Amino acid sequence: MGRIYMDHSATTPVDADIAQAMVKFMTEDFGNPSSIHSFGRDVKKAVEEAREKVAKAIGADAREIIFTSGGTESDNAAIIGVATANCKKGSHIITSTIEHHAVLDTCHHLEKNGFKVTYLPVDEYGMVKAEDVAKAITDDTILITIMHANNEVGTIQPIAEIGRLAKEKGIYFHVDAVQTIGKIPVNVDELGVDLLSVSSHKIYGPKGVGCLYIRKGTRWTPITFGGAQERKRRAGTENTASIVGLGMAMEKAVANLEQEVTKLTKLRDKLINGITANIDHIQLNGHPTFRLPNNVNFSFHFIEGESLLLSLDMKGIAASSGSACTSGSLDPSHVLLAMGISHEVAHGSLRLTLGKMNTEEEVNYVLEVLPEIVERLRQMSPLYDQNYQPKKECCQHV
Ligand SMILES: *Cc1c(COP(=O)(O)O)cnc(C)c1O
Repeated sequence: MGRIYMDHSATTPVDADIAQAMVKFMTEDFGNPSSIHSFGRDVKKAVEEAREKVAKAIGADAREIIFTSGGTESDNAAIIGVATANCKKGSHIITSTIEHHAVLDTCHHLEKNGFKVTYLPVDEYGMVKAEDVAKAITDDTILITIMHANNEVGTIQPIAEIGRLAKEKGIYFHVDAVQTIGKIPVNVDELGVDLLSVSSHKIYGPKGVGCLYIRKGTRWTPITFGGAQERKRRAGTENTASIVGLGMAMEKAVANLEQEVTKLTKLRDKLINGITANIDHIQLNGHPTFRLPNNVNFSFHFIEGESLLLSLDMKGIAASSGSACTSGSLDPSHVLLAMGISHEVAHGSLRLTLGKMNTEEEVNYVLEVLPEIVERLRQMSPLYDQNYQPKKECCQHV
């Protein structure tokens, strides 16, 4: 068996047809879309076609889309852009404790600059409650920013419900939809969002490009200066080849949605059921049903996620642990902690995120090697021994 990649929430490979189409926009069609001559015009046309595709995929108008350098920039631009433009109206922002750091750190930055931020708690499944959002709203609230689905545990948030609330109160609503494009339907009107972030490299497009949807009429100000590109909303020469790639990736993600979901859900459930049936002392992290079709996240008690990752890697299986996506950081995931999971249990977490190339054979292989690895690591773990004692005593009483 060759190497197995089950870390698609970290990044995905670029589809071959997308990579091929992009090459043309680095070599032949290399013009600057701002140029008046034919070299520029041809590329501008391709950029505008990509914008149409992206807009269509989320039910928006092309004029409401700006291209960015990715999910992180889109989140920054959405939050800082709305905060700056509406600071005379109010200075309060509502978000949640389980957001991506692109949102959390942007909120921290704004707090240092005089804004007030409410970080809403989540339940044990990693779900934000719409009623908590309602309670947090004050006359000073200008923005609500909640992610569509969480990248670590896959929990899908009640976005449409929060969208109705925001609309009722006249508060802008930003949604990080980086993890949901191509996995669940994303429509800006149905969800009631005013701003929405997308990244290309999570949906089989190139890295370093994404887009931000900004609903027409939204009071928003740019965060980059120095050029009139993107109708003065995002300065800097466009990443033309990557924009073409993103356009294709969005179009394909939506066209193949149903078929993908069916396939991913089947593999996901096979993994979840297989792990549950064959390994003791574990817990599934995230919501059992309101869950991304490609996300599996378990905590294995008495062992370290890092050791688990290394052992899996030696078997050629690429996954991710609960220490965020940043290897090197030993802090347990802020998402798992926010769900009320202890440091110890959070450290023993493993995330497997499936993609379109994964097969049932690969899932079977993971199910074959994982119980052995977990058992071996537990045998070496002092925690396992200690924790097993009370259990044995308990049995002796019976
Ligand atoms: C990956 C990710 C981002 C960051 O996107 P980049 O394009 O890598 O900057 C933001 N939010 C979520 C939920 C993500 O999963």
